[in-house]
Amino acid sequence: MTLPTDPAENLAALIRCASVTPTEGGALTALETMLKPLGFLVDRPVFSEDGTPDIENLYARRSGNGPHLMFAGHTDVVPVGDEAAWTHPPFAAEIANGEMYGRGAVDMKGGIACFIAAVARHVEANGGPKGSVSLLITGDEEGPAINGTVKLLEWAASRGEKWDASVVGEPTNPDALGDMIKIGRRGSMSGAVTVNGRQGHVAYPQLADNPVRGLMSLVDALLHPVFDKGTRDFQPTNLEITSIDVGNPATNVIPAKATATFNIRFNDTWTDETLQAEIHNRLDQAAGRKKYRQGKKTPVDYELVWRDRPSHVFLTRDDRLIETLRGSIKSAVGKEPTLSTSGGTSDARFIKDYCPVVEFGLVGKTMHMVDERVAIADLETLTQIYQRFIEDWFGQG
Ligand SMILES: [Zn+2]
Repeated sequence: MTLPTDPAENLAALIRCASVTPTEGGALTALETMLKPLGFLVDRPVFSEDGTPDIENLYARRSGNGPHLMFAGHTDVVPVGDEAAWTHPPFAAEIANGEMYGRGAVDMKGGIACFIAAVARHVEANGGPKGSVSLLITGDEEGPAINGTVKLLEWAASRGEKWDASVVGEPTNPDALGDMIKIGRRGSMSGAVTVNGRQGHVAYPQLADNPVRGLMSLVDALLHPVFDKGTRDFQPTNLEITSIDVGNPATNVIPAKATATFNIRFNDTWTDETLQAEIHNRLDQAAGRKKYRQGKKTPVDYELVWRDRPSHVFLTRDDRLIETLRGSIKSAVGKEPTLSTSGGTSDARFIKDYCPVVEFGLVGKTMHMVDERVAIADLETLTQIYQRFIEDWFGQG
């Protein structure tokens, strides 16, 4: 029996499945075909929730006597955009000038293809890891992420699954393979502040109450002073105003309402609760400022609504996990990866509640773009990195 030791072949099979969220597109079936000959038991639970499409997911485990390593990722991909703009079709896996083209090539079918090839080579060479390896693969990372990793983790944990460490195969490298391991992520929260005023004629402001004045005061308080200066592991916390909406087409009318929405990316100086309290406090103080309340005796009348659920900030402190991965990268590409917490959120924010987690995959430059593609040489190198990591983490190096 031939084992899936070639990452390019594995990736081609996955790219040819048009698995745009929420469609499975044959991608999980392709994975199952690769994993079964390697001794994995494969489950494909489907999760549902009102108002969202049903999503099929995959959990595969190869059991052994020893610690348990989980690789996590997703087979769903973002839409292709303007298909005519692609140099090679997005679901054909064509190779040109040493690069394989296709949606998902780097984000992140490529990472999965390499991890499976690494396990296959390890099985061929050593008979398999001295412990358990599992793959936790969702079809709902690029979509609403409701019927994906969160439920898959709960589902697996309720069946007694426990993990000692996890690697997420998202494309973490900005320019070249080996640039960057992600060892944590900032938190994220969004909110909307609405100021209630009183509509009126611009020539008679004493009879009206302009909410835009009040909103300017509140927005200023959201932006100044800075929340912190950053930490050893994190960038400074940053708040961006994402929209200011008044919706007033007239030039002679003072409007009745004005709203500003914002998103804040925060480091581990804060928790969701302390940061929300800080923001409430800033707004309350700004609401009483006289500067924007000429001739008014009452403070700005505002309401703050938090939108969506917050993403928690986290930092992984498992030295063995981080150092083993760092060593595998260094031996393959000859350089030290940066340990970073930059960028957006990922499913690692959910996994961190179950075991220490780091992220390392391909080069992210073309992700979500037209002509998403990966160097065949990078697939080989990432496979070597993952294989070395598996050997060292299980102590078989
Ligand atoms: Zn991704």
